[in-house]
Amino acid sequence: VSADPDCLFCKIVAREIPGDVVRETESTLAFRDIEPQAPSHVLVVPKDHLASAAEVAEADASLLALMVTEAAAVAETDGVDGYRLVFNTGAAANQTVFHAHLHMLGGRRMGWPPG
Ligand code: 5GP
Ligand code: ZN
Repeated sequence: VSADPDCLFCKIVAREIPGDVVRETESTLAFRDIEPQAPSHVLVVPKDHLASAAEVAEADASLLALMVTEAAAVAETDGVDGYRLVFNTGAAANQTVFHAHLHMLGGRRMGWPPG
């Protein structure tokens, strides 16, 4: 597993800093967002340090698919009616942590278009 010693999400994956982990597979970790934007707000990350969804897809397409099915499983466990999946990509789109993460947001009416 490749890790970046300066990366926040690599540290959560390594359990060097605490995360409210809700699901785990051999290659993914799902944990609750520290600043939830919805009643259910979980981040699904690859354990490997990959910067973006496109990098995940390029490295291993099935890993990207697993991130989606893991997000769906969390939504099911949390009992949300519907949910939104988001990859913020690039600083201009509000990506603040450059370790790929899929946001799963649910439990409230999700507006469209997003702000
Ligand atoms: P981004 O803006 O990069 O798409 O999302 C980063 C997310 O990580 C934000 O929603 C932010 O609240 C969350 N976050 C930042 N620091 C931590 C942390 O230390 N723990 C957890 N669980 N989430 C964090
Ligand atoms: Zn990382």
